[in-house]
Amino acid sequence: MVSEGKLKGRPVIVVHGGAGTWQPERSRSGLAGVKRAAEVGFRVLIRGGSALDAVEEAVGVMEDDGSFNAGYGSSLTIDKRVEMEASIMDGETLQAGAAGLLKDVRNPVRLARLVMEKTDHVFVVGEGAEKIAQIFGLEKRNPISELRLGYWKRQMETLNKGKFPLPKLAELAKAHPDIFSLETVGAVALDAEGNVAAATSTGGFPLKLPGRIGDSPLIGCGTYADNSCGACSATGVGEIAIRLVLAKTVCDYMARGKTAQKAVETAIRLVNTRILNNYSSMGLIAVDMKGNIGAAHNSPNLCWAYMSTELTEPRASLTAKKITEKL
Ligand code: ASP
Repeated sequence: MVSEGKLKGRPVIVVHGGAGTWQPERSRSGLAGVKRAAEVGFRVLIRGGSALDAVEEAVGVMEDDGSFNAGYGSSLTIDKRVEMEASIMDGETLQAGAAGLLKDVRNPVRLARLVMEKTDHVFVVGEGAEKIAQIFGLEKRNPISELRLGYWKRQMETLNKGKFPLPKLAELAKAHPDIFSLETVGAVALDAEGNVAAATSTGGFPLKLPGRIGDSPLIGCGTYADNSCGACSATGVGEIAIRLVLAKTVCDYMARGKTAQKAVETAIRLVNTRILNNYSSMGLIAVDMKGNIGAAHNSPNLCWAYMSTELTEPRASLTAKKITEKL
């Protein structure tokens, strides 16, 4: 049991390293990465730090890891570039920040926080966003890793054989599960003061068109936090999360009295019900205001971890509650 010292409440953090398919040879690094992120985020909370700081630090760890599709190791666009995006939200104030189309900012989540705190805007992309990063002295890093270059080559071969028709993702997922190496990262936390926060960061969907924005930087779609109910971070096919405003939908379920676990399960059922040609590729994590955690997916895997005062070290897994049913 971790010492809670003079903390008012019992903090908790949940992180994810993405839905999709985690290949066995990479599962160890994925699990180690989410565990480390949960540990770092929880350390912030146990010292009395805010949920906002905790999710930023946890996501920052995963952006630096190289195992995930965020920060260093981001997935490549169809024209072999990286366009990263991230968002962060504070449940106490409903302040939010997001950045997109980033080429070489080392930690997109830190830029999202700067957009939130140092500008009057919520979402800034491209050169304008990179300029903010430069003004505030954020570090740069080439995000292109050998791992993702290898994936890109294989995915392009699939595409060139005529087997990567984007609107047919369902068939594609069956034939080529490696394409669904989604591996976006996210975190939700409840701090000892009773505030929640959420953050999400990604390189986006592999082989995406240049300029495509997914759910991860969109407040309400990939990320949402509100002290009146809880916080949520999504992973999976961004176009699904956007169409169902999924992270906010999870928070709305919690606002109506569902626990975090029931809320994420219901939201995955909603995906299974409302999205035709279900791509079977969504994952959700959440925390409610009582500190209950939730994790569910319809994707093959969800790489995730959590840490609370009841545990001596974070628990990590490549699966959570897998939901195949409809509403
Ligand atoms: N949601 C991300 C996107 O569509 C991908 C992921 O979760 O891995 O950009």
